[in-house]
Amino acid sequence: MKMGDPILCPEIKYTQLFINNEWVNSQSGKTFPTLNPCTGKEICQVQEADKADVDLAVKAARAAFRRGSPWRKLDASKRGQLMNKLARLMRENITYIASLETLDNGKPYLDAREDIIAATENIEYYAGWCDKIHGQTIPVDGSYFTFTRHEPVGVCGAIIPWNYPVQMLAWKLGPTLACGCTVVVKPAEQTPLTALYIASLIKEAGFPPGVVNILPGYGPTAGAAIAEHMDINKVAFTGSTEVGHLIMQAAGRTNLKRVSLELGGKSPFIILEDCDLDQAAMFAHAAVMNNHGQNCCAGSRTYVQESIYEEFVARCKAMAEMRIVGDPYDGMTQQGPQIDEEQFNKILGLIESGKQQGASLQCGGERQGDIGYFVKPTVFSDVTDDMRIAKEEIFGPVQSILKFKDIDEVIERANNTSYGLAAGVMTRDINKALKISQNLDAGSVWVNCYDVVKSQTPFGGFKKSGQGRELREYALHECTEIKTVTINFPEKYL
Ligand code: ADP
Repeated sequence: MKMGDPILCPEIKYTQLFINNEWVNSQSGKTFPTLNPCTGKEICQVQEADKADVDLAVKAARAAFRRGSPWRKLDASKRGQLMNKLARLMRENITYIASLETLDNGKPYLDAREDIIAATENIEYYAGWCDKIHGQTIPVDGSYFTFTRHEPVGVCGAIIPWNYPVQMLAWKLGPTLACGCTVVVKPAEQTPLTALYIASLIKEAGFPPGVVNILPGYGPTAGAAIAEHMDINKVAFTGSTEVGHLIMQAAGRTNLKRVSLELGGKSPFIILEDCDLDQAAMFAHAAVMNNHGQNCCAGSRTYVQESIYEEFVARCKAMAEMRIVGDPYDGMTQQGPQIDEEQFNKILGLIESGKQQGASLQCGGERQGDIGYFVKPTVFSDVTDDMRIAKEEIFGPVQSILKFKDIDEVIERANNTSYGLAAGVMTRDINKALKISQNLDAGSVWVNCYDVVKSQTPFGGFKKSGQGRELREYALHECTEIKTVTINFPEKYL
């Protein structure tokens, strides 16, 4: 595979807003560029949504949600069939979608394919839920007959990040559509192209107009318009903790819409001296380097027990030095460019802070090449808890390795953060694994593995890593209202 291959460097088919199953220009007439992170150069201009466009999309989504609309009248099983059809179209077009993702996001093409497969499976998983979402009959006190209905929450907003554009789109669409809601989606401004192409597949699959609307645009404009909209019932956001605060504030200021948030992290990965060292070093490396470190649950604080510390650092260094960074269309490449200049500069700034605050730079520590946003895989040892590289989310290929003595100490230190998205532990001792997993404040804890996230596993954060859960049926709870119906059942009929 080579850059410039006509299949892998694809033609751009859709750059307009997708509202009510139509392609339209923005009300303002404005467009914005989406850039290739390998070069920093423009790929194409995309229509730029703002408040007026969000208003139109919400109107379409509300009309599609109205009682008696084709979408509301559709049998739940038929909703599932539409979703399965969408998944099938995504599979049939996987080469195009993955290559478009690589172009816009910079992730290696083979990783992009994995992402699309996972996204497709997620849509299929939720397709299966459509006709299995139901309430209870309740043995209530008195002579009443009581049952609950799980009804769709209404028009949803979905604000998507740029690190897993298609997967995060699927995580939002899956439960929203399974529950029978309608949705207005804003992809990240850095990566709008795959969501727009998938909009065309949504139309082709036969979803009624207005059920899914996709509006590329910027956060403080289009994103804020979604968060503040008076006629959106629920907003799902994945992104930074900083913006998570803004989304909740917007909901609080306006219509108290429901909010689910999947935010940042500074996840600890704890390596005990009894672990399988080869496996532990490999997992710890992948935990932080995968997706160029642009992963909200990246295991970015590697805590290593002191007796194996030096050996472990040497192994991490060797792996980082061997990591292949370069053209994301090359099948051997493990790491492409960071998403944009802002993230690139932030990562290099944090690397500088690590050097200045006294961490030992084992390898990397600088940009790679002189075009695009490539950063050399970087390993720091002798990191202490007070350093910025141990406290702040770097979102880049930077491993910070810290030393600890005993388990109680490491639990305390691992929890000493405002985040709580994920954590990992490597050990051969089941009792230690249980003790640590029970005592860590994190939404996911992986033992002898890392980053195992499937449609069947609930995912979300403790503390400032978020609210609510995505995946499994937990995500359905976020998209349903529970209605209690109580019927007077006179005793004489008992
Ligand atoms: P990052 O810092 O990693 O780019 P952000 O949290 O800024 O992450 O972005 C994640 C998503 O949130 C993107 O779609 C972005 O456009 C959107 N966003 C950014 N700022 C706001 C905002 N003020 N209101 C709503 N959405 C926003």
